[in-house]
Amino acid sequence: MDETIYSVAVDGPSGAGKSTLAKAVAAELGIVYVDTGAIYRSIGYEIFRRGIDPKDTAAVIEALPEIHIEMRYGEDGLQRMYLNGDDVTAEIRRPEISMYASGVSAIGEVRAFLLNMQRDLAKKSSVIMDGRDIGTVVLPNADVKIYLTASVEMRAKRRMLELEKRGTPQPFEEVLQQIEERDWADMHRDVAPLRQAEDAVVVDTSALNFEESLAQILAVIRRGRNI
Ligand code: C5P
Repeated sequence: MDETIYSVAVDGPSGAGKSTLAKAVAAELGIVYVDTGAIYRSIGYEIFRRGIDPKDTAAVIEALPEIHIEMRYGEDGLQRMYLNGDDVTAEIRRPEISMYASGVSAIGEVRAFLLNMQRDLAKKSSVIMDGRDIGTVVLPNADVKIYLTASVEMRAKRRMLELEKRGTPQPFEEVLQQIEERDWADMHRDVAPLRQAEDAVVVDTSALNFEESLAQILAVIRRGRNI
C-alpha cells in the first residue's frame, strides 16, 4: 500500500464532468475527493440568502467574518457542506446559486478567505481536488495536474440532463448561455482566473463516455505517480 500523501489537481470549465469523475477516481484510488466549487457555492448561497448583490464587493467582504463554512464527510464518504451549522449540501446546487458562486469567487478577499482551508485538506490526506485554480494557485506543487475540458455544447447537454435528473429542468439554449457566461466570467476575472497550468495534462471528454474518461484520468494519474 502506498503510504505517502499525494494530491491530484483537476481544473476546468463548468460541466466538463470534473466532480463526477473526481468522485469516481477518489473511490478507485481510496483517496479523498474535495469539491472546491461547493465551498464557493456555500459563500454564494449565504450572499443570496442575505439579499446581497454578489457583485457588491464591499458588502460581500463585510459579510465574510460572519460566514463559517465547514466540510464534513458523511458515512457514504460524500462531502457535505455546512454553513453556520446548517447542512446546505442540497441548496447550493440550485441553478441560481451558480452565478452567485461565480460572482463571489471573483473577489480576491473571498479567495484568500478560503485558501488555507483548501490547502489544509491536502495536507491531511491524499486528495483529488477539483476547481478552477487548484493546479495554478491552491496546490501549485500537486503531484498530478489535469485540465479537464469538453466542447461547450457537450457540457451544456450534460448539464441539462443533470438538471433534469435533479428535478429542475431547463431548456438547452438557457443552459448553454449560462455555461458560456460562467466560462467567460471564470476565465476573465483578475484573481485566479481559470486557466490551464503549464504542467497540466489536458483531458478532453467531448467524444468520451464516462468509463473512457475515467480510464484516461486514471492513466494520467498512474503515469504521473509511476504507480
Ligand atoms: O465547480 P462549480 O460549478 O460548483 O463552481 C461554482 C463556481 O465557483 C465556478 O463557476 C467558479 O466561479 C467558482 N470556483 C472558483 N474556484 C474554484 C472552484 C469554483 O472560482 N476552485
